[in-house]
Amino acid sequence: MKRIGITTTVPAEVLLAAGYQPLDLNNILVSSPVPTRFITIAERAGFPLNCCAWIKGIYGVCLDSGIEDVLCVTSGDCSNTIMLMEVLKLKGLNAMPFAYPECPDLRQMQQVLEKLSAALGAAPDAADTVREKLQPVRDLALKLDELTWRQNTVSGWENHFWLVSASDFNGDYHQYRRDLQGLLDLCAGRQPHPEGEIRLAYIGVPSVYARELYPYVEKHGARVVFNEVQRQFAMPAPGESLAAQYTGYTYPYSIHERLQDIKTEIQKRRIDGVIHYVQAFCHRGIGDIIIRDAIDLPVLTLEGNADFFLNGHVKTRLEAFLDMIQRRQKMIKKSYDKLLSPGGRD
Ligand code: SF4
Repeated sequence: MKRIGITTTVPAEVLLAAGYQPLDLNNILVSSPVPTRFITIAERAGFPLNCCAWIKGIYGVCLDSGIEDVLCVTSGDCSNTIMLMEVLKLKGLNAMPFAYPECPDLRQMQQVLEKLSAALGAAPDAADTVREKLQPVRDLALKLDELTWRQNTVSGWENHFWLVSASDFNGDYHQYRRDLQGLLDLCAGRQPHPEGEIRLAYIGVPSVYARELYPYVEKHGARVVFNEVQRQFAMPAPGESLAAQYTGYTYPYSIHERLQDIKTEIQKRRIDGVIHYVQAFCHRGIGDIIIRDAIDLPVLTLEGNADFFLNGHVKTRLEAFLDMIQRRQKMIKKSYDKLLSPGGRD
């Protein structure tokens, strides 16, 4: 199959139906042992210092990997991708645009899918057949997600890794399915995480330092049991058709669609605190104002740039945040106990 780079989650079913193997350029960037070298490639080419590290990294990966075709999501993800696409074209790559509809509208989504199928040369309805093949794979990813918050047998990092990888199934969905099934079998024999741990939600784009973030919070008595955007990549609302599936996918649409999903999951998963990750120089950071206004729980806003590790400053802020949640829980418990004690209401 011919490889095609993708700048974020796109309807992979259409790409596979057209004979392309999607490769999520973000995942290639962060899984590299030296991701900063891709950023250096971009800065040497003239990308400004105050451009988001993901955009620069994607550019570096494209040039370094010899990939020829790239599907650039120009609406529903990042406006920087429009100019990234132009530069990739200048460098001789076949960079094509893909735009999600402005709002989650079924009819518009159907038109977008048809346009993409025609552009890539996929036979009509072929994507629906691929959707059926991918569904059991997506179901496994969602099973892992359920084990994370309900049975408490999955780590935050495992949850992050397998859900974020659902954008391209690590380049081979058969292998992804086998590997994930292996992990689920392993989880069946695990002891659950301890009862009193702090339960965290992680919202916002995946972080550049994810590999260190999740184990770090676990070392300090907490665990991420909800990864918002990563879970969306696994398509938790598949609906009745491909168009419905990508209409129910919240990430490309307004923050209010995302918040509905976030609030539902926060309640269901009994979340104690929220980490909102924002990427330096990203427009999505402004959404922090709305998120803080909408969520009635402690929120820690963390920013990352091109450090692919947790620096001392971020570690200290995480520790202080977890400490504050612990104290808050103790205070709530104390007032509750007092209320229930004889004469407590006097
Ligand atoms: S983090 Fe923000 S600026 Fe960077 S690629 Fe994603 S949406 Fe664009």
